[in-house]
Amino acid sequence: MAMKIRVMASHGPLRRGLVPFLVYRAEAYDESDRFREPTWGCAHDHESVEHAFNCGVAWLNGQSDESAVEMA
Ligand SMILES: [Zn+2]
Repeated sequence: MAMKIRVMASHGPLRRGLVPFLVYRAEAYDESDRFREPTWGCAHDHESVEHAFNCGVAWLNGQSDESAVEMA
């Protein structure tokens, strides 16, 4: 099973008087899954794609299998 990390962007909570902003979350999915359903997702609101991706990579590195990490 080849796991990959992707980063999903979503709108952060709206606050009065502030411009809406995007938050980023890492997701892991199985490359062989034709629907690419996420098998894991981080629960943070990352400020940047890089932070979210690093979070996903750190999670993947903590898994016991030897999946290669590739940029989705
Ligand atoms: Zn995270």
